[in-house]
This record gives sequence, structure tokens and C-alpha cells, in this order.
Amino acid sequence: LLEVRDLCKDYHVAGRGFGSARAMRALNGVGFTLMPGTVLGVVGESGSGKSTLARVLMRLESVTSGQALYGGQDILKLQGSALNRFRREVQMVFQDPFGSLNPTMEIERIICEPLALHPDILPRRQWRDRAAELLEMVGLEPAHLSRLPHQFSGGQRQRIAIARALALNPRLIICDEAVSALDVSIQAQVIELLADLRRKLGLSFIFITHDLPVVRSFADDILVMKGGAVVEAGDTDTLFANPSHPYTRDLLSASA
Ligand code: ATP
Ligand code: MG
Repeated sequence: LLEVRDLCKDYHVAGRGFGSARAMRALNGVGFTLMPGTVLGVVGESGSGKSTLARVLMRLESVTSGQALYGGQDILKLQGSALNRFRREVQMVFQDPFGSLNPTMEIERIICEPLALHPDILPRRQWRDRAAELLEMVGLEPAHLSRLPHQFSGGQRQRIAIARALALNPRLIICDEAVSALDVSIQAQVIELLADLRRKLGLSFIFITHDLPVVRSFADDILVMKGGAVVEAGDTDTLFANPSHPYTRDLLSASA
């Protein structure tokens, strides 16, 4: 589904004083292959470049060099209708999806946002039914459609964000710390929901977290990042049974 090769990203940060801008390398030669219908866990400590990777793949950020092939085309060069199709097929779920959202916006409108961005997909009169169907898919009452974000718990808000991400029938969902703000038991419920959706819909996921054990049950493969580079990659069982890099062992023991 996705083949990423040698991705590098420099941020240009202002230094002290005039003319002292310098480059800060946030991604340094990242590469991986994501097979259709599989889950890739991306783990690493704060600042290791995980969110930068997500934003680059979502075309929210430019790259310095490298390639990201999706369906044989380089995502980083997509334009016009090809970019539009990509934006339909790949969706994202963030840590606190409604943190910056208008608190007076009803859930129905939140879930239908992607449909509003791609108005050719579904006629407007069918949006409400679609929103109700999506709420059911994520285990919430369709009757909740006219509620406001603050009337939901953190775990329920994450379910709503997942419903919104599903609105356009995507092929890939990138989750950036999507369960990190939740209690451990709620984390497990949300991950169970994602695993269920993956089984039913054949979806692929890139699941980003700083907490390595969280992805154990969900990810097929894991990418361990440090300082913008991949220090270890492999299938989940092997990596947990036999971590080869000391940093991976640290991540395992830090959260044990
Ligand atoms: P966290 O676990 O805290 O979310 P992360 O792994 O997602 O961390 P990134 O947000 O990708 O890390 O940041 C990687 C590096 O790039 C950090 O050193 C960060 O300070 C830097 N960085 C991120 N965004 C920008 C930006 N817009 N401008 C300049 N530097 C940035
Ligand atoms: Mg991040």
C-alpha cells in the first residue's frame, strides 16, 4: 500500500540574532513498507519525529528529500485530482481531536466534515443517515448526533474522531497518539474497536505512540524511531521477544 524510502525532513529554525537560521533534521532516512490491511506501529520517545512523519505523509508538511509511494505514485508529488483522491483514501486521528474545535458544533456536523470537503461522494440529504451509521460502527448511539463535543467522555470523543475518519471509506488511517490521553482500560477498548474495523473493513493503520506496549496486540510490524531515524524495525512478536537495539529495550522496560 505504501512504500517509504529514505525520507528526510529539515525544519529551518531561527537561531539567536540576524542570519543565524539553521536546519534541524527531524527525519533522517526513514523507510518502511506497509502492506494492504496491515498495521504498522511507530514508536519512539518525544521528539523522535513521529508526528513529523505523519504530517509529511498526510502532505501537511513538505519534505527535504525522499519518496513515499502510494499505489505506485509518489505522495509527495501528487497534485490536483490525484491529491484529492489521496486525501479521501488516507485519514488521520489525533490525540485530542476536538481540543481546537468549535464547542458549539454538533456531532453530526463534525462527522460529516470530510463529506463536506468532498461533496461529490454523497448527496447532502444522505449525510444524516451516514453519520448515524458511522456512530453505530464505532459503538455509539445514533441518537447522540445532535450532542456537542463536551457531552462526551475522552474515549467517546476518540470514537467520534474515528467515525469522522471513516466517513469517506478510507484505505489507511494514521493515528497520532490517538489513545495516549486515555486511561489504560479505555485505551484497550479503543484499540479493540480499531482492530475490529481493520478485520471488518480491511483497513490499514499507521499507529503512532510513545508507549510501546500499547501497540503489542494491534500492530503487525513495528518501527522504532530515535532522533528522526529508524533504529529497529520488524514484526511485533519478534521485536517484543527479542529486541535487538538497546533503545528498544529501554522503551520496553520504561513502560513495563
Ligand atoms: P512527541 O512524542 O512529543 O509527539 P514526536 O516524535 O511526534 O514527539 P515531532 O513532533 O515529529 O516528534 O518532532 C521532531 C523534532 O522536530 C523535534 O525536535 C521538534 O522540536 C521538531 N519540530 C517539530 N515540528 C517543528 C516545527 N514546526 N518547526 C521546527 N521544529 C519542529
Ligand atoms: Mg508527536
